[in-house]
Amino acid sequence: MSAAEAFYAAHAAAAADARDDAHDDDDDGLWTPGAARALARLESAFRVPKQKLHEIVKHFAKEMDRGLAAPNQTLKMIPSFVVNLPKGSETGTYLALDLGGSNFRVCEVTLEGAGSSGAVSNVRMRQRKYVVSDDLKTGRGTDLFDFFADCVREFLVENGIHATDPAHNELVLGFTFSFPCSQTAINKGALMHWTKGFTASGVEGQDPVQLLQDAFHRKQLRVRVASLVNDTVGTLVAHAYQDPSTHLGIILGTGTNAAYVERIDRIPKWDGPIPASGKMIVNTEWGAFDQEGVVLPLTSYDSVLDRQSAHPHLQTYEKMVSGLYLGEVMRLVLADLASTGELFRGVSSTVLTTPYSIDTALMSRIERDHSAELADVRVVLEDLISIPKTSAEDRRIVKRVAELIGTRSARLAAAGVAAIVSKINRLDDCTVAIDGSLFEHYPHYANRMRDALREIVGIAADNILLVQARDGSGQGAALIAALADA
Ligand code: ADP
Ligand code: MG
Repeated sequence: MSAAEAFYAAHAAAAADARDDAHDDDDDGLWTPGAARALARLESAFRVPKQKLHEIVKHFAKEMDRGLAAPNQTLKMIPSFVVNLPKGSETGTYLALDLGGSNFRVCEVTLEGAGSSGAVSNVRMRQRKYVVSDDLKTGRGTDLFDFFADCVREFLVENGIHATDPAHNELVLGFTFSFPCSQTAINKGALMHWTKGFTASGVEGQDPVQLLQDAFHRKQLRVRVASLVNDTVGTLVAHAYQDPSTHLGIILGTGTNAAYVERIDRIPKWDGPIPASGKMIVNTEWGAFDQEGVVLPLTSYDSVLDRQSAHPHLQTYEKMVSGLYLGEVMRLVLADLASTGELFRGVSSTVLTTPYSIDTALMSRIERDHSAELADVRVVLEDLISIPKTSAEDRRIVKRVAELIGTRSARLAAAGVAAIVSKINRLDDCTVAIDGSLFEHYPHYANRMRDALREIVGIAADNILLVQARDGSGQGAALIAALADA
């Protein structure tokens, strides 16, 4: 074997090992020496080995305890004022607004209860999605809330629901507002700071319930905002309506976050009344985890993304995990490999050099292509990202990069789940309700999480049920409005 061949073989073997570790399901064959070098470098940067997962879980536990003990910690551990899970017998019709980050939805939720047969509790829902433009996200807060009220009016008119006629009862609405808010009551709070690209003026420090209620008044809508709900809390509550083993609600969408059921005596900073249930749902705001950069395996790409983001030094974990950011991490890697000549023969494109031009949905599409020539990856790269010409190896590298970034996200999310499930001692039986397009649509996401859970907690991972809880945030807000209204 020549020196060059030996070099090639060694790197190909290293790359193959790393791939196996990351549970790659394809046999990518051999790489040219340049590609093998690039992939070995990326694999060591993006891999989250078992040992690292353990360190992250340990740090998570410490940070959760800090957040439960005192305000203004990295993990905010916000008491939600939701002290009861639904019984499954709740009934009635409620409105819900769900502002997630990418989508804004207006829903009408009808809770039908479990009925006398003891069947699974039924929920009927009518909903419509609206897009929040970048101008609204970054403009004046009053315009943003007026827009919400206008959407509600449109929804009500379309569905023949009366909301201006004093002869009809006031409508009751649950507001899912998925940004960190310190709450002082089930329908009162203050936005701590915007995340996920929102910067609308005059909202930080204010009560989103009041801002929404004021907008309804301006628009003469007889709608009462009965609850302020984080989407994680809504997802948890909505799923618990059907499955009482549900103790966690997770969002893996534009952003990422988690809520769970905590014992009130384990929340030292809680100085309110002790609820009869002895429990309180806590919104962890885990997107902020490790803002100090103690344990997360940050790459140079993550640092660039952070520096150029709307909120530098904030939401460090979220930036490695959630849908808003994965495509951008991918873009930064591909642009770098193009600039070093390791991809596309050194040719880039305007799309590739434009921040946030690659949506995470494109990574899903790339990972879903199992054709021999990666024909759909070619469509993505050449037609959508405007790379003039790609080789088969280019496309295999791009797919591998997507796998690395997508797998890292799932494994980090699993570490958070493991930390919470261990904390509440539910390793014997716990349902985790998960909402968000990333979890729902990204190929292998749930399996990658399960693999990581197994590495962290061993066989007990089989008792942790990760379930898709679609539309949980809207339904949950309605349920919480129902519980608050009762
Ligand atoms: P929200 O966070 O507003 O409630 P979603 O749960 O729909 O909304 O999440 C939107 C995020 O999910 C976006 O960042 C988008 O990039 C990502 N996303 C949408 N479709 C897909 C897909 N097919 N695969 C992976 N990510 C996706
Ligand atoms: Mg959502």
